[in-house]
Amino acid sequence: MVVGGLDEEALDSGEPGKTVTVTMTVKAVTDGAAGNAQVLQDSIDAIKAESASSEHEYLDLTLEKTVSETGKAEVTTDITVTQNLITVVIPFDPTGKSNIVVYRYHESAVDTLTGSPNKDGEYIEITDEAVTVYAKNFSVYAIGYTVQPSPTSYAVTAPKTEHGAVTADRRYAVRGRRVTLTAQADEGYHLASLTATYGNERPVDLTDNGDGTWTFVQPAGRVTVTAEFVPCLSLGFTDLDTGAWYHDYTDYVIAQGLMQGIGDGQFAPDGAVSRAQMVTVLWNMRGKPVVNYYMTYSDVSEDAWYAEAVRWAASEGIAGGYGDGIFGPDDPITREQMATMLYRYEKKYGNGGFTGAWMCRLPFTDLDHISDWAFEAVAWCNMKGVIAGKDDNIFDPKGLSKRGELAAILTRYCGEETGEE
Ligand SMILES: [Zn+2]
Repeated sequence: MVVGGLDEEALDSGEPGKTVTVTMTVKAVTDGAAGNAQVLQDSIDAIKAESASSEHEYLDLTLEKTVSETGKAEVTTDITVTQNLITVVIPFDPTGKSNIVVYRYHESAVDTLTGSPNKDGEYIEITDEAVTVYAKNFSVYAIGYTVQPSPTSYAVTAPKTEHGAVTADRRYAVRGRRVTLTAQADEGYHLASLTATYGNERPVDLTDNGDGTWTFVQPAGRVTVTAEFVPCLSLGFTDLDTGAWYHDYTDYVIAQGLMQGIGDGQFAPDGAVSRAQMVTVLWNMRGKPVVNYYMTYSDVSEDAWYAEAVRWAASEGIAGGYGDGIFGPDDPITREQMATMLYRYEKKYGNGGFTGAWMCRLPFTDLDHISDWAFEAVAWCNMKGVIAGKDDNIFDPKGLSKRGELAAILTRYCGEETGEE
């Protein structure tokens, strides 16, 4: 509490040969408190009767003048009216309060002080921290205000989940507020799904921020977040490194059932892709259809693990042999062969590849190494971002792909199919 103007008041009240001291006492008082003097409570009741405010903070402001004169006893008298405006700064937090006014009971009347000076020049100022009263008449004051209704907050809850945790950046949020969720999987686990509902199982739209956080806008209801964490599938193979560049891709192709290991718990991410493996991958992607087709490749045994896949690929025109009754199942597949099989699959089961007239300017310096029969496939796969070129602006059509690279190509191809990344 800061009071100003008392020194001037003392000077103006002075008389020759006398010393005058003016002091103000500011006491917060409570309506109906047991210790209230009757006159004080009567003043409070009078303010309440005249007030339009629902809430009040009462203050009893008293001024005393003490006059000292040499050789005489001090004389102290109450001042109820000053000659000058006295400044009283009352700490007050206006947050959530509206219609703030100051009431005063003085000489049997209730006055309302506002930002505009009254006939005595009295007024108030309201800041973020205080109400300042400039006044000449003293007794019981009240700061009156109306409490603004606070918007309803709703709880955001994320029940405990096994193998990971989801946290929200706030436990309660008002409607329309943005809430951010962070999902953290335990070591060796991945987030499989994250959903949020409110009300009667109504879904809440979650925006994936791509950095392990999701955002939603608080609806009018309690939000419950549900997450499922699953073991990392790549950990099912002893030679897959969860810190390697291919990790997301191997997780994806294993989850989708597109690629299995090569046996003995090995995935062989750096191993070459054989032609048999490639047709098997596409056969898996198609859902392992069983076809009735007479196959005459001399190097594909009827009981080979890839026999049904080769039968399907040959019957559907996805992969053909070398033309002399040879399929070459164990031959490593070249990049242009891989592009060609994938493109045939796309044309037959996907969105059709290039249709009508098309033109694609490939940015590679080794275009003349691409076989004529593979050019359209290479162009489409590169344009769609499914198969990227290599360093030094080459496509390397006769080069071989590693199984880890095939996992990446399949992930990108399926993302292209589904419109997801
Ligand atoms: Zn993983």
